[in-house]
Amino acid sequence: MGQTRPARLVRCCHWLLSTLGFGEKAEARVVSFGVSTLRSFDVEPLAFSKLDAGDYKYTITATDTTGKPVSTSTSFSVKTATVKTTGVKLAPTSLTLNVGASATLTATVTPANATNKTVSWTSSNKTVATVNTKGVVTGVAVGTVKITVTPLAGGTPATATITVKSVATSNITFSGLHTVPNPLTKGTAVSVKGTINSTQKLKSVTAKIDTQTGRDKKCATTFTEANNAVNNVKFDLKAFDAGLKFSKLEPCDYTYTITATDTTGNQATKTINFTVKTAPTTTPAPPTSKPGPGASMDTKLKYIFGKSMGTQTWTGYSNSLASQVGKNLKTIELDVWTLVAGKKVAKKKKLTVHVKVANEVQLIFRDIFNDPEQFPISLNTTGSYTNRGNTWSLHNYGLAIDINWDVNPMVANNQVKNSKYKPGENPLCIPANGSVVRAFKKHGWYWGGDWVSKKDFMHFGYINK
Ligand SMILES: [Zn+2]
Repeated sequence: MGQTRPARLVRCCHWLLSTLGFGEKAEARVVSFGVSTLRSFDVEPLAFSKLDAGDYKYTITATDTTGKPVSTSTSFSVKTATVKTTGVKLAPTSLTLNVGASATLTATVTPANATNKTVSWTSSNKTVATVNTKGVVTGVAVGTVKITVTPLAGGTPATATITVKSVATSNITFSGLHTVPNPLTKGTAVSVKGTINSTQKLKSVTAKIDTQTGRDKKCATTFTEANNAVNNVKFDLKAFDAGLKFSKLEPCDYTYTITATDTTGNQATKTINFTVKTAPTTTPAPPTSKPGPGASMDTKLKYIFGKSMGTQTWTGYSNSLASQVGKNLKTIELDVWTLVAGKKVAKKKKLTVHVKVANEVQLIFRDIFNDPEQFPISLNTTGSYTNRGNTWSLHNYGLAIDINWDVNPMVANNQVKNSKYKPGENPLCIPANGSVVRAFKKHGWYWGGDWVSKKDFMHFGYINK
């Protein structure tokens, strides 16, 4: 900008910048020039770059030494420079929505100082999801769509992928879950099995053991099952067997927790509380099957009474024990030969014995009945169980049988000859080498006729007492 002045000395000069339409002074500055030599001027600095957009009038007034001002002016407009839009960013770029649910996508036009930041939104399939002018996406139906945002001033659009899914009905239940024995004896291996019923595909099932009391003894395992049917998934927790070392747990209180998670994120847990205790020091279990004929007396008594019996236990017999014994008696019916008017006739003989020897007694009497000897048994002088009160006797327990007691007496050894015991003469007397003694001995029973200091020829005992 320049100005040629008349050939008179300039005394002063100033410029005035005003906004058109308002006539107001925006900025005024008096610039003093060196007199007499000025022929041209260049006003600096004029901060035009700082002017806001608008229309301006620029006036310069020069005054010479005569005091007469001369003005000249020029008008101009300041306009804002246009910043071009390069594109737009979208966040998030993928989203999963339930049908009927909404979420907002955020569009950011680049660069940040772009002149025009308006955008438009479109959905690739409005039947799946819609989008409004604010970027709010609403799921309409199951499917996948692309939401595109486009800067209206040009530049690269951006897209987000929206997956719309149905509102899942999620339900997980446990059934048939094996419980852990409580208390659990230390060293016992336990396998926990069960079924998890899920309306949704299961994503994972985990199981862990935590101590209830915070002891530092833990056992945990995890497995993930990925390929299951969508509905009614059946999980067989047998797969845990290898990982759950219950047998290694120290005595403590534990909580066993199974957590199932389906693909919708729904979780269900099942907890089982149990206590591990040290194995008690146990005596060997009594035999559950009948001891063989050669078994020891102690083994035989364990079989009957479930425990070892010291001999002192057998020195007395109380009425309370009698009632207890009564529960263990069984009356059986046997085929026997008996004498009727001097002839052998087959009859039925009822005998009440201990339940645990009942079958054995049946076998013994079958042997006797089937033997060609056809040894006759008197129905009225043959028996087993009798309550003999506070007197030691196997008969108190139904564990001894007396046969034909009227002619097979109990006598001192040296009185045998004078007694009624006349085997060979009286068919009702039990011969030592006869079928009766053979049958009882075959099954491990003892005959009182074998005793030494005294003889009890009628008596056959489950043990040698
Ligand atoms: Zn007897």
